[in-house]
Amino acid sequence: MSMREDEKRGYFGEFGGSFIPEELQKVMDILEENFENYRNDPEFIEEYKYYLKEFVGRENPLTYAKNISEKFGGAKIYLKREDLNHTGAHKINNVIGQILLAKRMGAKRIIAETGAGQHGVATATACAMFNMDCTVYMGKLDTERQALNVFRMELLGAKVISVDAGQGRLKDAVDAALGDLVENYENTFYLLGSAVGPHPFPSMVKHFQSIISEESKQQILEKEGKLPTAVVACAGGGSNAIGAFAHYIDEKDVRLIGVEPAEAPTLTEGVPAVIHGFKCLTLLDEDGNPRPTYSISAGLDYPGIGPEHSYLKESGRAEYVAVTGDEALEAFQLLSKEEGIIPALESSHAIAHAVKLAKELSKDDILIVNLSGRGDKDVEQVFKMINQ
Ligand SMILES: *Cc1c(COP(=O)(O)O)cnc(C)c1O
Repeated sequence: MSMREDEKRGYFGEFGGSFIPEELQKVMDILEENFENYRNDPEFIEEYKYYLKEFVGRENPLTYAKNISEKFGGAKIYLKREDLNHTGAHKINNVIGQILLAKRMGAKRIIAETGAGQHGVATATACAMFNMDCTVYMGKLDTERQALNVFRMELLGAKVISVDAGQGRLKDAVDAALGDLVENYENTFYLLGSAVGPHPFPSMVKHFQSIISEESKQQILEKEGKLPTAVVACAGGGSNAIGAFAHYIDEKDVRLIGVEPAEAPTLTEGVPAVIHGFKCLTLLDEDGNPRPTYSISAGLDYPGIGPEHSYLKESGRAEYVAVTGDEALEAFQLLSKEEGIIPALESSHAIAHAVKLAKELSKDDILIVNLSGRGDKDVEQVFKMINQ
């Protein structure tokens, strides 16, 4: 079976698939059929690109980070500026794609899950613009820790439902959203935020995030006349990384490097297991349950990872490394001071590794770092960490 056939069934090697109740499988089958129908439809693509340009602000630049490149004297570092997108990160790319699909499918209502609130805010933003009813499920504990993001979503017209069940965390929010979907699938679309979950979500999220590498490949060829030595991206669920890798996967000379937090090292320490309806490398505790993780960046705090990353790791096509919270914090300050760009704490993990790697490479080498988001949301947290 070819890779493409595998991908159709939602498998990447042994990873991915769909491990869900029958009633939910029916909904996923309808979603898969519609996604396959529209993904190559010229009108659909034209509309997707229209909103990326007019609402998100694409294409965003591939900025040469001259100061840090010269400071460390090794490879040239380029930054793919997802931080300049409307709402400040890559998440909106996927949100626009899925909302347009939801509209084609006749959905009147969007539901989403959110942990720290970033995906919820991106979803609420696009729902406001597209006049869609929006409900965001969020664990009770998370609503308390991220009260401002709850307020942002409400400002944007979304209804935020605080989920008291379980531990009141992201997983409980996902369960509540899935329950809602099964009950209301005839008018409701579940807009998932990362390259995880049952098929077809990982393939669909990758598809909509691939715009990152579609642009960066063209940009680097224009600027340097050659492909990069490596593409570096942080990985939580894996959506910005898979989008940053996508158009380079078949370019065997380009190294693909995913950077995860040392406090949630899914790919470096995980084992194959089924979580949240799909199979991937996962951090488990002694009882075989998903292990709680404690990254300083909320967006990377997830015990699993997208199935395609699990496969890219096992097949050796991509490399995955871990960076500590302290290293990320240092990179956060470095990029701010040297380049005038305050990066998200998530993205700071990728920068920390890129700087290490650049020193080992030569001036002929090029690194593309995916700057997944801006750090305004993290300034208060960093202030407290530095001054305590
Ligand atoms: C959510 C988020 C991430 C992590 O999600 P992925 O699906 O792994 O990309 C990374 N960076 C930023 C800025 C985020 O908001």
